[in-house]
Amino acid sequence: MEVHVVLLLFGPPGCGKGTQSPLLRDRLGIPAISTGDMLRRESEKHSDTGKTIDCLLAAGCLVPNEMVNHLLEARLAEPDCRDGFLIDGYPRTVEQASHLHQILEGLDLAAPTLVHMDVPDSVLISRLSARWNCRSCGAIYNLLSKPPLRDGFCDIDNEPLWQRNDDTVETAHCRLDAYKAVTDPVLGFYKLGGTGNVIHVNAHQSPDAVFEEIKAALETEVFSPVRLRT
Ligand SMILES: [Zn+2]
Repeated sequence: MEVHVVLLLFGPPGCGKGTQSPLLRDRLGIPAISTGDMLRRESEKHSDTGKTIDCLLAAGCLVPNEMVNHLLEARLAEPDCRDGFLIDGYPRTVEQASHLHQILEGLDLAAPTLVHMDVPDSVLISRLSARWNCRSCGAIYNLLSKPPLRDGFCDIDNEPLWQRNDDTVETAHCRLDAYKAVTDPVLGFYKLGGTGNVIHVNAHQSPDAVFEEIKAALETEVFSPVRLRT
C-alpha cells in the first residue's frame, strides 16, 4: 500500500501559517497547494477556465465552488501529489470538505489530517494590530518587532502615528470572529464525521518548534495511516 500524507493546514489570521506552509513543503518534500495559487496558475495558462476566472475576479466576484473543486481535483491527480500534499486555505465550507472527501476517495488517497495552529486570541490581536504608520513621512512601525522610540510618535519627524482601518484592534477582533465562523463547522466535519484526523498544535512558539510539534503528532500511532518519509 502506498503511503500518503494529506495535510490540511488551518489557522487564524496572524498564526504564522504563511511561514509554516513552505517549511512543511520543503521538509516533508510534498507540494503545498493553495487555492489562490491554483486560480492564478490557471489564469496564466489563458485557458477557457483561466479567462473565466479573470473575468470573475475583475468583476469582484467569487470564483464558484464548482470551478474551484474541479481545478483542485485536476491538481491533486498530478503525479507530484501521489506521495501526499498540503492544502492551505481549503476547505472553507462543509460542502467543500465533503467534496474533497470524494476527490480523495476517487484518487485512492489517504484521509486528510487537519492541522490546526492554535494561538491565544490575545496574542493574535496584538500581532494583527501591531502596525502603526506615520502619515507625514510614510514610516511603518510594528509594536512587536520595530516599535518607535517614543510611544505613539515617529522617530524621524516626531509626528503622531496612526493606524489604518485594517490594522486596528476592532478589525482584528472581526477577522478572528469571521475565521471562527467559517472554520468551526469544517473542524466539526472532520472531528465528528470521522472523515479525517484533527490535530491541534501550539503555534505560539518559533516556526521550527511548531514544525517539530506537527511532525511529532503525525508520527504518533494515533495517526498510523499517515507515515512520514524519512
Ligand atoms: Zn514620520
